[in-house]
Amino acid sequence: MVTTSFKTTKSEEIFAAAQKIMPGGVSSPVRAFKSVGGQPIVFDHVKGAYIWDVDGNEYIDYVGTWGPAICGHAHPEVIKALHEALEKGTSFGAPSVLENVLAEMVIDAVPSIEMVRFVNSGTEACMAVLRLMRAFTGREKVIKFEGCYHGHADMFLVKAGSGVATLGLPDSPGVPKSATNSTLTAPYNDLEAVKALFAENPGEIAGVILEPVVGNAGFITPDAGFLEGLRVITQENGALLVFDEVMTGFRIAYGGAQEKFGITPDLTTLGKIIGGGLPVGAYGGRQDIMSMVAPAGPMYQAGTLSGNPLAMTAGIKTLELLQKPGTYEYLEQITKKLSDGLLQIAKDAGHAVCGGHISAMFGLFFTGGPVHNYEDAKKSDTAKFGRFHRGMLERGVYLAPSQFEAGFTSFAHTEADIDRTLAAAKEVLSTI
Ligand SMILES: *Cc1c(COP(=O)(O)O)cnc(C)c1O
Repeated sequence: MVTTSFKTTKSEEIFAAAQKIMPGGVSSPVRAFKSVGGQPIVFDHVKGAYIWDVDGNEYIDYVGTWGPAICGHAHPEVIKALHEALEKGTSFGAPSVLENVLAEMVIDAVPSIEMVRFVNSGTEACMAVLRLMRAFTGREKVIKFEGCYHGHADMFLVKAGSGVATLGLPDSPGVPKSATNSTLTAPYNDLEAVKALFAENPGEIAGVILEPVVGNAGFITPDAGFLEGLRVITQENGALLVFDEVMTGFRIAYGGAQEKFGITPDLTTLGKIIGGGLPVGAYGGRQDIMSMVAPAGPMYQAGTLSGNPLAMTAGIKTLELLQKPGTYEYLEQITKKLSDGLLQIAKDAGHAVCGGHISAMFGLFFTGGPVHNYEDAKKSDTAKFGRFHRGMLERGVYLAPSQFEAGFTSFAHTEADIDRTLAAAKEVLSTI
Protein backbone atom coordinates (compact mmCIF):
# COMPACT_ATOMS: atom_id res chain seq x y z
CA MET A 1 0.00 0.00 0.00
CA VAL A 2 2.93 2.34 -0.51
CA THR A 3 2.16 4.69 -3.36
CA THR A 4 5.75 5.26 -4.43
CA SER A 5 6.35 1.58 -5.19
CA PHE A 6 3.38 1.40 -7.57
CA LYS A 7 4.72 0.35 -10.97
CA THR A 8 2.72 -0.86 -13.94
CA THR A 9 5.40 -1.08 -16.63
CA LYS A 10 4.40 -4.52 -17.91
CA SER A 11 0.71 -3.62 -17.97
CA GLU A 12 1.53 -0.58 -20.07
CA GLU A 13 3.58 -2.61 -22.55
CA ILE A 14 0.89 -5.25 -22.97
CA PHE A 15 -1.88 -2.66 -23.29
CA ALA A 16 0.10 -0.68 -25.88
CA ALA A 17 0.46 -3.85 -27.97
CA ALA A 18 -3.22 -4.71 -27.43
CA GLN A 19 -4.37 -1.36 -28.80
CA LYS A 20 -2.78 -2.13 -32.16
CA ILE A 21 -4.58 -5.42 -32.58
CA MET A 22 -7.92 -5.00 -30.76
CA PRO A 23 -10.22 -1.94 -30.82
CA GLY A 24 -9.27 0.16 -27.80
CA GLY A 25 -7.06 -2.71 -26.63
CA VAL A 26 -9.92 -4.46 -24.85
CA SER A 27 -12.66 -7.01 -25.40
CA SER A 28 -15.31 -4.88 -23.64
CA PRO A 29 -15.31 -1.04 -23.47
CA VAL A 30 -15.41 -0.13 -19.75
CA ARG A 31 -12.27 -2.17 -19.12
CA ALA A 32 -10.24 0.48 -20.93
CA PHE A 33 -10.29 3.02 -18.03
CA LYS A 34 -11.27 5.79 -20.48
CA SER A 35 -13.44 7.61 -17.98
CA VAL A 36 -11.01 7.47 -15.05
CA GLY A 37 -7.78 8.24 -16.85
CA GLY A 38 -4.57 6.27 -16.71
CA GLN A 39 -4.17 2.89 -18.28
CA PRO A 40 -5.90 -0.34 -17.39
CA ILE A 41 -3.92 -2.84 -15.41
CA VAL A 42 -3.46 -6.20 -17.06
CA PHE A 43 -4.45 -9.10 -14.83
CA ASP A 44 -2.28 -12.15 -14.29
CA HIS A 45 -4.38 -14.19 -11.86
CA VAL A 46 -7.22 -13.92 -9.37
CA LYS A 47 -8.01 -15.69 -6.10
CA GLY A 48 -10.63 -15.04 -3.42
CA ALA A 49 -11.04 -11.29 -2.87
CA TYR A 50 -7.76 -10.49 -4.63
CA ILE A 51 -6.32 -9.92 -8.05
CA TRP A 52 -2.69 -9.75 -9.14
CA ASP A 53 -1.49 -7.83 -12.16
CA VAL A 54 1.36 -8.71 -14.52
CA ASP A 55 3.72 -6.41 -12.56
CA GLY A 56 3.05 -8.34 -9.36
CA ASN A 57 0.81 -5.73 -7.69
CA GLU A 58 -1.92 -7.11 -5.45
CA TYR A 59 -5.36 -5.51 -5.20
CA ILE A 60 -8.49 -6.04 -3.13
CA ASP A 61 -11.12 -6.47 -5.83
CA TYR A 62 -14.58 -4.86 -5.79
CA VAL A 63 -15.45 -5.64 -9.40
CA GLY A 64 -15.55 -9.43 -9.12
CA THR A 65 -15.38 -9.85 -12.89
CA TRP A 66 -18.43 -7.51 -13.05
CA GLY A 67 -20.57 -9.60 -10.76
CA PRO A 68 -20.07 -13.34 -11.13
CA ALA A 69 -17.40 -13.74 -8.41
CA ILE A 70 -19.74 -13.62 -5.39
CA CYS A 71 -17.93 -16.60 -3.82
CA GLY A 72 -14.59 -14.93 -4.45
CA HIS A 73 -12.46 -15.70 -7.46
CA ALA A 74 -11.42 -19.26 -8.26
CA HIS A 75 -13.17 -20.78 -5.25
CA PRO A 76 -11.49 -24.15 -4.59
CA GLU A 77 -14.79 -26.05 -4.74
CA VAL A 78 -15.75 -24.47 -8.06
CA ILE A 79 -12.30 -25.21 -9.48
CA LYS A 80 -12.46 -28.82 -8.27
CA ALA A 81 -15.91 -29.33 -9.81
CA LEU A 82 -14.67 -27.81 -13.06
CA HIS A 83 -11.64 -30.13 -13.15
CA GLU A 84 -13.94 -33.13 -12.83
CA ALA A 85 -16.36 -31.80 -15.46
CA LEU A 86 -13.48 -31.03 -17.83
CA GLU A 87 -12.52 -34.70 -17.95
CA LYS A 88 -15.96 -35.45 -19.41
CA GLY A 89 -15.55 -32.94 -22.24
CA THR A 90 -16.02 -29.26 -22.82
CA SER A 91 -19.20 -29.14 -24.89
CA PHE A 92 -21.96 -31.62 -25.69
CA GLY A 93 -24.45 -29.86 -27.95
CA ALA A 94 -26.94 -32.34 -26.53
CA PRO A 95 -28.94 -32.61 -23.29
CA SER A 96 -27.04 -33.21 -20.04
CA VAL A 97 -28.35 -33.79 -16.54
CA LEU A 98 -26.35 -30.74 -15.40
CA GLU A 99 -28.93 -28.53 -17.12
CA ASN A 100 -31.72 -30.19 -15.12
CA VAL A 101 -29.82 -29.62 -11.88
CA LEU A 102 -29.15 -25.92 -12.49
CA ALA A 103 -32.67 -25.37 -13.88
CA GLU A 104 -34.18 -26.90 -10.71
CA MET A 105 -31.98 -24.69 -8.55
CA VAL A 106 -32.97 -21.55 -10.46
CA ILE A 107 -36.68 -22.46 -10.40
CA ASP A 108 -36.53 -23.18 -6.64
CA ALA A 109 -34.77 -19.89 -5.97
CA VAL A 110 -36.38 -17.27 -8.20
CA PRO A 111 -40.09 -16.68 -7.46
CA SER A 112 -41.17 -15.81 -11.03
CA ILE A 113 -39.38 -18.69 -12.76
CA GLU A 114 -41.36 -21.86 -13.50
CA MET A 115 -39.36 -22.78 -16.63
CA VAL A 116 -35.97 -21.62 -17.79
CA ARG A 117 -33.86 -21.52 -20.98
CA PHE A 118 -30.07 -21.28 -20.75
CA VAL A 119 -28.09 -19.07 -23.14
CA ASN A 120 -24.49 -17.78 -23.19
CA SER A 121 -24.65 -14.20 -21.93
CA GLY A 122 -26.88 -11.61 -20.32
CA THR A 123 -27.14 -9.87 -23.69
CA GLU A 124 -28.52 -13.02 -25.27
CA ALA A 125 -30.98 -13.52 -22.42
CA CYS A 126 -32.35 -9.98 -22.84
CA MET A 127 -32.57 -10.28 -26.64
CA ALA A 128 -34.53 -13.50 -26.29
CA VAL A 129 -36.80 -12.22 -23.56
CA LEU A 130 -37.75 -9.24 -25.72
CA ARG A 131 -38.67 -11.53 -28.59
CA LEU A 132 -40.70 -13.61 -26.17
CA MET A 133 -42.51 -10.53 -24.77
CA ARG A 134 -43.49 -9.62 -28.31
CA ALA A 135 -44.41 -13.17 -29.32
CA PHE A 136 -46.61 -13.70 -26.29
CA THR A 137 -48.48 -10.39 -26.38
CA GLY A 138 -48.56 -9.88 -30.13
CA ARG A 139 -47.40 -6.29 -29.46
CA GLU A 140 -44.13 -4.66 -30.50
CA LYS A 141 -43.43 -1.72 -28.21
CA VAL A 142 -41.41 -2.06 -25.05
CA ILE A 143 -40.60 0.35 -22.23
CA LYS A 144 -37.09 0.56 -20.79
CA PHE A 145 -35.60 3.07 -18.36
CA GLU A 146 -32.87 5.66 -18.95
CA GLY A 147 -29.53 4.42 -17.67
CA CYS A 148 -30.61 0.78 -17.45
CA TYR A 149 -28.45 -1.65 -19.40
CA HIS A 150 -29.86 -4.82 -20.95
CA GLY A 151 -26.88 -5.89 -23.02
CA HIS A 152 -25.80 -4.58 -26.41
CA ALA A 153 -28.61 -5.76 -28.70
CA ASP A 154 -29.88 -3.06 -31.10
CA MET A 155 -33.29 -2.65 -29.48
CA PHE A 156 -31.80 -1.83 -26.08
CA LEU A 157 -29.17 0.70 -27.18
CA VAL A 158 -31.42 3.61 -26.36
CA LYS A 159 -30.39 5.73 -23.38
CA ALA A 160 -28.45 2.70 -22.17
CA GLY A 161 -26.29 2.42 -19.07
CA SER A 162 -22.94 0.71 -18.42
CA GLY A 163 -20.25 1.45 -21.03
CA VAL A 164 -22.63 3.62 -23.06
CA ALA A 165 -23.13 5.85 -20.00
CA THR A 166 -19.49 5.65 -18.93
CA LEU A 167 -18.23 6.85 -22.30
CA GLY A 168 -21.08 9.34 -22.71
CA LEU A 169 -21.89 7.80 -26.09
CA PRO A 170 -24.96 8.81 -28.06
CA ASP A 171 -27.09 5.91 -29.13
CA SER A 172 -24.77 3.75 -31.18
CA PRO A 173 -24.23 4.19 -34.91
CA GLY A 174 -25.10 1.03 -36.77
CA VAL A 175 -28.37 0.60 -34.95
CA PRO A 176 -31.16 1.03 -37.52
CA LYS A 177 -34.07 3.28 -36.60
CA SER A 178 -36.35 0.36 -37.31
CA ALA A 179 -34.71 -1.54 -34.43
CA THR A 180 -35.34 1.15 -31.84
CA ASN A 181 -38.62 2.65 -33.11
CA SER A 182 -40.48 0.38 -30.74
CA THR A 183 -38.27 1.10 -27.72
CA LEU A 184 -39.90 3.68 -25.44
CA THR A 185 -37.97 5.16 -22.53
CA ALA A 186 -38.87 6.68 -19.19
CA PRO A 187 -36.83 8.03 -16.27
CA TYR A 188 -36.23 5.41 -13.56
CA ASN A 189 -38.51 5.72 -10.52
CA ASP A 190 -41.07 7.73 -12.55
CA LEU A 191 -44.41 5.91 -12.54
CA GLU A 192 -46.23 8.88 -14.06
CA ALA A 193 -43.99 8.74 -17.13
CA VAL A 194 -44.77 5.03 -17.51
CA LYS A 195 -48.50 5.67 -17.18
CA ALA A 196 -48.26 8.39 -19.83
CA LEU A 197 -46.51 6.01 -22.25
CA PHE A 198 -49.23 3.41 -21.78
CA ALA A 199 -51.88 6.09 -22.33
CA GLU A 200 -50.18 7.32 -25.52
CA ASN A 201 -49.75 3.80 -26.93
CA PRO A 202 -52.95 1.94 -26.04
CA GLY A 203 -52.82 -1.81 -26.67
CA GLU A 204 -49.37 -1.54 -28.26
CA ILE A 205 -46.94 -2.09 -25.39
CA ALA A 206 -45.70 -5.65 -24.90
CA GLY A 207 -44.16 -4.90 -21.54
CA VAL A 208 -41.74 -3.12 -19.28
CA ILE A 209 -38.16 -4.29 -18.68
CA LEU A 210 -35.93 -2.92 -15.95
CA GLU A 211 -33.10 -3.50 -13.54
CA PRO A 212 -35.08 -3.85 -10.29
CA VAL A 213 -32.06 -2.31 -8.57
CA VAL A 214 -29.92 -0.36 -11.03
CA GLY A 215 -26.23 -1.21 -11.21
CA ASN A 216 -25.39 0.11 -14.66
CA ALA A 217 -25.91 3.83 -14.03
CA GLY A 218 -24.10 3.60 -10.73
CA PHE A 219 -26.07 2.06 -7.88
CA ILE A 220 -29.69 3.32 -7.80
CA THR A 221 -32.44 1.75 -5.70
CA PRO A 222 -36.15 1.64 -6.53
CA ASP A 223 -38.22 4.18 -4.56
CA ALA A 224 -40.90 2.75 -2.28
CA GLY A 225 -43.87 1.80 -4.45
CA PHE A 226 -42.05 1.91 -7.79
CA LEU A 227 -41.82 -1.84 -8.43
CA GLU A 228 -45.33 -2.35 -7.00
CA GLY A 229 -46.63 0.41 -9.29
CA LEU A 230 -45.06 -1.20 -12.36
CA ARG A 231 -46.64 -4.52 -11.42
CA VAL A 232 -50.08 -2.88 -11.25
CA ILE A 233 -49.71 -0.76 -14.41
CA THR A 234 -48.49 -3.68 -16.55
CA GLN A 235 -51.28 -5.92 -15.30
CA GLU A 236 -53.93 -3.26 -15.98
CA ASN A 237 -52.66 -2.90 -19.55
CA GLY A 238 -52.24 -6.59 -20.40
CA ALA A 239 -48.49 -6.07 -20.65
CA LEU A 240 -45.64 -8.12 -19.19
CA LEU A 241 -43.28 -7.06 -16.41
CA VAL A 242 -39.69 -8.25 -16.88
CA PHE A 243 -36.96 -7.98 -14.28
CA ASP A 244 -33.48 -8.00 -15.74
CA GLU A 245 -31.72 -9.70 -12.83
CA VAL A 246 -28.51 -10.45 -14.73
CA MET A 247 -26.72 -8.43 -12.05
CA THR A 248 -29.07 -8.62 -9.06
CA GLY A 249 -29.98 -12.31 -9.32
CA PHE A 250 -28.45 -14.29 -6.42
CA ARG A 251 -26.73 -11.06 -5.29
CA ILE A 252 -29.44 -8.82 -3.77
CA ALA A 253 -30.81 -12.01 -2.20
CA TYR A 254 -30.65 -15.69 -3.15
CA GLY A 255 -33.95 -15.23 -5.02
CA GLY A 256 -32.86 -11.85 -6.43
CA ALA A 257 -34.53 -8.47 -6.16
CA GLN A 258 -37.94 -10.08 -6.69
CA GLU A 259 -37.50 -12.04 -3.46
CA LYS A 260 -36.07 -9.04 -1.61
CA PHE A 261 -38.92 -6.69 -2.61
CA GLY A 262 -41.71 -9.28 -2.84
CA ILE A 263 -42.73 -8.30 -6.38
CA THR A 264 -43.09 -11.14 -8.88
CA PRO A 265 -42.50 -10.23 -12.54
CA ASP A 266 -43.78 -12.35 -15.43
CA LEU A 267 -40.31 -13.00 -16.84
CA THR A 268 -36.76 -12.71 -15.55
CA THR A 269 -33.32 -12.62 -17.13
CA LEU A 270 -30.24 -13.97 -15.36
CA GLY A 271 -26.52 -14.24 -16.06
CA LYS A 272 -23.27 -13.44 -14.25
CA ILE A 273 -23.52 -15.37 -10.92
CA ILE A 274 -25.39 -18.36 -12.37
CA GLY A 275 -22.37 -19.10 -14.55
CA GLY A 276 -19.93 -18.96 -11.64
CA GLY A 277 -17.40 -17.11 -13.83
CA LEU A 278 -18.08 -18.94 -17.09
CA PRO A 279 -20.11 -17.46 -19.96
CA VAL A 280 -23.80 -17.93 -19.22
CA GLY A 281 -27.21 -16.32 -19.31
CA ALA A 282 -30.77 -17.50 -18.79
CA TYR A 283 -34.33 -16.35 -19.12
CA GLY A 284 -37.36 -17.79 -17.47
CA GLY A 285 -40.78 -17.13 -16.08
CA ARG A 286 -44.37 -18.27 -16.17
CA GLN A 287 -44.86 -21.66 -17.74
CA ASP A 288 -47.55 -20.48 -20.17
CA ILE A 289 -45.20 -17.82 -21.52
CA MET A 290 -42.07 -19.98 -21.60
CA SER A 291 -44.01 -22.69 -23.46
CA MET A 292 -43.88 -20.39 -26.49
CA VAL A 293 -40.12 -20.98 -26.80
CA ALA A 294 -38.99 -23.45 -29.50
CA PRO A 295 -39.18 -26.38 -29.70
CA ALA A 296 -42.10 -26.36 -27.22
CA GLY A 297 -43.60 -23.44 -29.13
CA PRO A 298 -43.06 -21.23 -32.18
CA MET A 299 -40.68 -18.54 -30.83
CA TYR A 300 -37.26 -19.41 -32.19
CA GLN A 301 -34.10 -19.13 -30.11
CA ALA A 302 -31.09 -21.45 -30.11
CA GLY A 303 -27.39 -21.76 -29.20
CA THR A 304 -24.50 -24.08 -30.10
CA LEU A 305 -22.88 -23.74 -26.67
CA SER A 306 -26.06 -23.10 -24.64
CA GLY A 307 -26.29 -25.21 -21.48
CA ASN A 308 -22.55 -25.77 -21.73
CA PRO A 309 -21.47 -28.45 -19.20
CA LEU A 310 -18.61 -26.37 -17.75
CA ALA A 311 -20.80 -23.28 -17.31
CA MET A 312 -23.58 -25.41 -15.75
CA THR A 313 -21.04 -27.01 -13.38
CA ALA A 314 -19.61 -23.68 -12.21
CA GLY A 315 -23.14 -22.31 -11.77
CA ILE A 316 -24.36 -25.30 -9.76
CA LYS A 317 -21.36 -25.20 -7.42
CA THR A 318 -21.65 -21.42 -6.99
CA LEU A 319 -25.32 -21.64 -6.04
CA GLU A 320 -24.57 -24.52 -3.65
CA LEU A 321 -21.97 -22.36 -1.92
CA LEU A 322 -24.45 -19.49 -1.67
CA GLN A 323 -27.00 -21.76 0.01
CA LYS A 324 -24.79 -22.17 3.10
CA PRO A 325 -26.52 -20.61 6.12
CA GLY A 326 -25.33 -17.12 6.97
CA THR A 327 -23.97 -16.27 3.52
CA TYR A 328 -26.27 -13.33 2.81
CA GLU A 329 -26.09 -12.09 6.41
CA TYR A 330 -22.31 -11.97 6.06
CA LEU A 331 -22.46 -10.24 2.67
CA GLU A 332 -24.82 -7.62 4.13
CA GLN A 333 -22.57 -7.11 7.16
CA ILE A 334 -19.31 -6.49 5.29
CA THR A 335 -20.92 -4.47 2.49
CA LYS A 336 -22.67 -2.23 5.02
CA LYS A 337 -19.38 -1.71 6.81
CA LEU A 338 -17.71 -0.77 3.52
CA SER A 339 -20.47 1.46 2.20
CA ASP A 340 -21.22 3.27 5.48
CA GLY A 341 -17.48 3.70 6.03
CA LEU A 342 -16.84 5.18 2.59
CA LEU A 343 -19.76 7.63 2.91
CA GLN A 344 -18.64 8.77 6.36
CA ILE A 345 -15.00 9.20 5.38
CA ALA A 346 -15.96 11.14 2.24
CA LYS A 347 -18.31 13.42 4.18
CA ASP A 348 -15.73 13.98 6.92
CA ALA A 349 -13.28 15.02 4.20
CA GLY A 350 -15.81 17.58 2.97
CA HIS A 351 -16.99 15.88 -0.21
CA ALA A 352 -20.60 15.98 -1.42
CA VAL A 353 -21.47 12.30 -1.78
CA CYS A 354 -24.38 9.93 -1.62
CA GLY A 355 -24.77 6.22 -2.04
CA GLY A 356 -25.62 3.02 -0.29
CA HIS A 357 -25.77 -0.72 -0.57
CA ILE A 358 -28.12 -3.67 -0.64
CA SER A 359 -26.64 -7.02 0.23
CA ALA A 360 -23.43 -7.49 -1.81
CA MET A 361 -23.92 -4.50 -4.13
CA PHE A 362 -22.93 -0.90 -3.37
CA GLY A 363 -22.31 2.50 -4.90
CA LEU A 364 -20.90 5.94 -4.12
CA PHE A 365 -21.75 9.03 -6.19
CA PHE A 366 -19.72 12.23 -6.00
CA THR A 367 -22.86 14.37 -5.73
CA GLY A 368 -24.89 15.29 -2.68
CA GLY A 369 -27.89 13.61 -4.28
CA PRO A 370 -30.37 12.19 -3.80
CA VAL A 371 -30.00 10.02 -6.91
CA HIS A 372 -33.32 8.60 -8.10
CA ASN A 373 -32.48 8.22 -11.78
CA TYR A 374 -29.80 8.59 -14.44
CA GLU A 375 -30.22 12.39 -14.74
CA ASP A 376 -29.44 12.69 -11.02
CA ALA A 377 -26.49 10.29 -11.38
CA LYS A 378 -25.01 12.44 -14.14
CA LYS A 379 -24.63 15.32 -11.66
CA SER A 380 -21.71 13.37 -10.16
CA ASP A 381 -18.26 14.91 -10.31
CA THR A 382 -16.79 12.26 -12.61
CA ALA A 383 -13.37 13.94 -12.69
CA LYS A 384 -13.21 13.62 -8.91
CA PHE A 385 -14.33 10.00 -9.19
CA GLY A 386 -11.42 9.48 -11.60
CA ARG A 387 -8.95 10.84 -9.02
CA PHE A 388 -10.53 8.70 -6.31
CA HIS A 389 -10.29 5.63 -8.54
CA ARG A 390 -6.64 6.27 -9.34
CA GLY A 391 -5.71 6.89 -5.70
CA MET A 392 -7.38 3.67 -4.62
CA LEU A 393 -5.72 1.71 -7.41
CA GLU A 394 -2.29 2.95 -6.33
CA ARG A 395 -3.09 1.79 -2.80
CA GLY A 396 -4.10 -1.71 -3.87
CA VAL A 397 -7.88 -1.36 -4.19
CA TYR A 398 -9.49 -2.21 -7.52
CA LEU A 399 -12.79 -0.39 -8.06
CA ALA A 400 -14.91 -0.40 -11.22
CA PRO A 401 -13.27 2.16 -13.53
CA SER A 402 -16.48 4.18 -13.90
CA GLN A 403 -18.75 6.34 -11.76
CA PHE A 404 -21.64 4.61 -13.51
CA GLU A 405 -21.04 1.06 -12.33
CA ALA A 406 -22.01 -0.54 -9.03
CA GLY A 407 -19.42 -2.18 -6.77
CA PHE A 408 -19.52 -5.80 -5.68
CA THR A 409 -18.35 -7.69 -2.64
CA SER A 410 -17.96 -11.44 -2.18
CA PHE A 411 -17.96 -13.73 0.82
CA ALA A 412 -14.21 -14.04 0.36
CA HIS A 413 -13.85 -10.41 1.51
CA THR A 414 -12.88 -10.23 5.19
CA GLU A 415 -13.43 -7.51 7.76
CA ALA A 416 -9.68 -6.89 7.49
CA ASP A 417 -10.01 -6.31 3.74
CA ILE A 418 -12.73 -3.74 4.41
CA ASP A 419 -10.57 -2.05 7.08
CA ARG A 420 -7.64 -1.83 4.65
CA THR A 421 -9.95 -0.42 1.96
CA LEU A 422 -11.33 2.23 4.30
CA ALA A 423 -7.81 3.19 5.42
CA ALA A 424 -6.85 3.69 1.78
CA ALA A 425 -10.03 5.72 1.15
CA LYS A 426 -9.20 7.96 4.10
CA GLU A 427 -5.83 8.82 2.57
CA VAL A 428 -7.20 9.32 -0.93
CA LEU A 429 -10.29 11.32 0.01
CA SER A 430 -8.20 13.78 2.02
CA THR A 431 -6.11 14.64 -1.05
CA ILE A 432 -8.48 14.79 -4.05
C1 LIG B 1 -24.19 -7.40 -17.41
C2 LIG B 1 -25.62 -7.12 -17.69
C3 LIG B 1 -26.21 -7.49 -18.91
C4 LIG B 1 -25.42 -8.07 -20.06
O1 LIG B 1 -24.83 -9.28 -19.75
P1 LIG B 1 -23.56 -9.78 -20.64
O2 LIG B 1 -23.29 -11.15 -20.08
O3 LIG B 1 -22.48 -8.78 -20.39
O4 LIG B 1 -24.01 -9.80 -22.05
C5 LIG B 1 -27.57 -7.30 -19.06
N1 LIG B 1 -28.30 -6.76 -18.07
C6 LIG B 1 -27.76 -6.38 -16.89
C7 LIG B 1 -28.64 -5.81 -15.84
C8 LIG B 1 -26.40 -6.53 -16.68
O5 LIG B 1 -25.86 -6.11 -15.53
